Amino acid sequence: MRIANLSGRLVLLTDDRALDVESASAGRFASHPQAVYEVWDDFVAWAATQDASEGVAYDARQLGPAVPRPPQVFAIGLNYASHAGESGLSVPENPMVFTKFVSSFAGADVDVELTGDTVDWEVELVAVIGKGGRDIAESDAWDHIAGLTIGQDISDRTVQFWGDPSQFSIGKSLKNFAPIGPAVVTLDELAQGSDRSDLAIGCTLTRADGTTEVLQNGRTRHMIFPIPTLVARLSALVELLPGDVIFTGTPDGVGLGRNPRVYLEAGQTVTSEIEGLGSIRQRFVAKA
Ligand code: ZN
Repeated sequence: MRIANLSGRLVLLTDDRALDVESASAGRFASHPQAVYEVWDDFVAWAATQDASEGVAYDARQLGPAVPRPPQVFAIGLNYASHAGESGLSVPENPMVFTKFVSSFAGADVDVELTGDTVDWEVELVAVIGKGGRDIAESDAWDHIAGLTIGQDISDRTVQFWGDPSQFSIGKSLKNFAPIGPAVVTLDELAQGSDRSDLAIGCTLTRADGTTEVLQNGRTRHMIFPIPTLVARLSALVELLPGDVIFTGTPDGVGLGRNPRVYLEAGQTVTSEIEGLGSIRQRFVAKA
């Protein structure tokens, strides 16, 4: 199953159709895409009886953030050794955690205003919590995941590195700096084609003249702290809540790690893809 946010309403999604959940369930499930995680098991059972291809046609521009108002947003820095290396930072002993404030959340196909001349890309696998809890064992962790989606951890490097220690949370929370989507893909759906622990992950730049360049191209098995470890380590410290999201870090290939450094320019588009999850696309535009 793939669930999404179409113009603020919860839908079951196919490549070209969206079935409105509140209408199809005659009001049993609320329309708000965030509410479903509170009733996740009931929803999964009901959704299995539905045929999303009976929905209506939609445009990707209508897709809002797949998880629009998570109670908590965890983002993990330096979770791939290759990215820590290119950033000139050492591999952390414990997960390095910051947040992306929810006001930065955006849909799968949006314009992003450049806030300066050091705006950078970071494609990331995003895990969505279905069942919360404290002290979740690593071996049980996948049972607490509702599904996976694609995120971009867009970063204004100038703001991020204001002062010492640096300011990861604010520098990564500017307007539309957290696009996620297009849909939350449940693990059973993903299992039909892919290994949830080893997904191809990458992003591609399209310049204003139409030329393209692969920016990042990795695999999620190279995470230093894989999803079960993150769930265990985070839940040992804080309670995880239904509908929380975890941005799990980015592989190498970001602009900050290049010599010379390269950042996004107006007129460029970044398309981010993860195996089995689809793609999201952001167009970067000059500050108004
Ligand atoms: Zn990141």
